Amino acid sequence: EIVAPLPTTFFFRKSFPSVRYRNEETRKRILITGGAGFVGSHLVDKLMLDGHEIIALDNYFTGRKKNIEHWIGHPNFEMVHHDVVNPYFVEVDQIYHLASPASPPHYMYNPVKTIKTNTLGTINMLGLAKRMKATVLLASTSEVYGDPEVHPQPETYWGHVNTIGPRACYDEGKRVAESLMVAYNKQENVQIRIARIFNTFGPRMHMNDGRVVSNFIIQALQDKPITVSYYNVLFVLFYFLQIYGNGTQTRSFQYVTDLVDGLIKLMNSNYSLPVNIGNPEEHTIGQFAAIIRDLVPGSQSEIINQESQQDDPQQRRPDIRRAAEQIQWRPQVLMKDGLLKTIEYFRAEIDRNKRGGKP
Ligand code: NAD
Ligand code: UDP
Repeated sequence: EIVAPLPTTFFFRKSFPSVRYRNEETRKRILITGGAGFVGSHLVDKLMLDGHEIIALDNYFTGRKKNIEHWIGHPNFEMVHHDVVNPYFVEVDQIYHLASPASPPHYMYNPVKTIKTNTLGTINMLGLAKRMKATVLLASTSEVYGDPEVHPQPETYWGHVNTIGPRACYDEGKRVAESLMVAYNKQENVQIRIARIFNTFGPRMHMNDGRVVSNFIIQALQDKPITVSYYNVLFVLFYFLQIYGNGTQTRSFQYVTDLVDGLIKLMNSNYSLPVNIGNPEEHTIGQFAAIIRDLVPGSQSEIINQESQQDDPQQRRPDIRRAAEQIQWRPQVLMKDGLLKTIEYFRAEIDRNKRGGKP
């Protein structure tokens, strides 16, 4: 006789992190599009712990259930599998609109879809905000400045973007999204917030994200040559930290918790012009490769130069005076401390993958 095992939840009730108690008046219903992604899932955590009701919406293009699974089943949390290019109706007070691939290989994979997500998706969220009289925050990007001719970049700079280059689907998609936000604000009186986010890193970045921080960390952690077999032929693979171009291009990196604090402060302010959210500590990509390798104990990975990428911005650093003045925000986490946490995260992920995904 075959006896079906009882579900484990029958014996063990799932336990959740403890969340702040809020009464009806101060508790908000908040929609987070892209809520299963890297930034979205950290935002879910912070707002859940603060006692709000959260609806996370995602089509799982680059997001994963694993990022928010610790909240599944909590009475304040709902996960919705939906694509923002299609309208979505729900009663909410605030909308954080993050849904969009963010890493260059992901947004270049299907440029038409990237444009649709950032245009139709933003129209759908603005339509929802209009109907619900909700405030909507757009996760815009430093990419609206393109390959900037002004340095550092203030919000008043109009940018330098190639409309027909490989990055255009994302850069122009976000620029139209900003224009849509302003048009709905002026024409329909929708309450808007525009965060221009600069390069951000931290735990829960996808292993195959393809952005520089995760690539360099994974390459430095796997510095031993590994042998793989394809069609019964053995190959030896070496991991190098691969710099695209000569490595003199610069970026400024912020840790994800700083970004999340900035997004929440901006949402709850009454400021509707764009605000840069980023850490002004700037490094060349060459320096950055050496910093990461030196932080990974024992790593002797070589740093090599690959072909440069078309239209790669040559310099990027936020001017964050507006954020300081208007929303009293400035980054708190030192790049090195954030990197150490991120290295530990990827070390654990690599070990978990070796065990076939088991915890
Ligand atoms: P991510 O790829 O981890 O997250 C994006 C999420 O959006 C994913 O969960 C993905 O599945 C979801 N998504 C994509 N298209 C969708 C669609 N059509 N419908 C529903 N869901 C969809 O990237 P991230 O780094 O967390 O970025 C979040 C937001 O912040 C993006 O809008 C991005 O443009 C913006 N941003 C991020 C950075 C950064 O450095 N992380 C910098 C500037 C701007
Ligand atoms: N980059 C690199 N090696 C990598 C990935 C990226 O040298 O493995 C470079 C890339 O060319 C760019 C910088 O690092 O100059 C930041 O790239 P990322 O994709 O992280 O973000 P973005 O270009 O959107 O700022």
